[in-house]
Amino acid sequence: MTSDSRNERAFDLHCGSNALFLSDVPTLQWTPDDGNRDEFFMRQALAEAALAAEEGEIPIGAVLVCQNRAIARDHNRRERNCDPTAHAETLVLRAASVFFPSWRIEDSELFVTLEPCVMCAGALVQARVDRVVFGTRDPKGGAVVSLYELLNDSRLNWRCQVDEGTLGDECAAILRDFFRARRDDKRSGA
Ligand code: ZN
Repeated sequence: MTSDSRNERAFDLHCGSNALFLSDVPTLQWTPDDGNRDEFFMRQALAEAALAAEEGEIPIGAVLVCQNRAIARDHNRRERNCDPTAHAETLVLRAASVFFPSWRIEDSELFVTLEPCVMCAGALVQARVDRVVFGTRDPKGGAVVSLYELLNDSRLNWRCQVDEGTLGDECAAILRDFFRARRDDKRSGA
């Protein structure tokens, strides 16, 4: 992809065109007919989390939304990529960045099944994401409300709107079921 075509796509995106999207990029769009908007996008994140579980990854999924469109979606790939930074949030930020003319992921929202960690919360600040919606808290690693409040820290130069609890029971259940199955496998020697 040339830098010109990148800029053209970003420009189109900001003009609200439907034509910019690459055929291999999911472009699910929310409309009022789809019902609750946050739940609509969190369902996409949950679908990604389910894919992670199938791959033996801790099931966490994320979706980056701009202008009511899911412009990037992915899931935790830490094991598969042998990459400690391959969390769902950083992967969708990187994927979405091709649509923007600068490093800022402007006018965007991130939906993620689990409260972001320190690294991902930092990346969300760096990207200037406007709003973060997460499903369930991570008491041992969460950096949005649990251990730190990095998305709402007046010492930093960016603050996000934060909403939590969307499909929270489902987001917690997929993690619980994954760890329970893994414990059972260990006990049975699988
Ligand atoms: Zn993370």
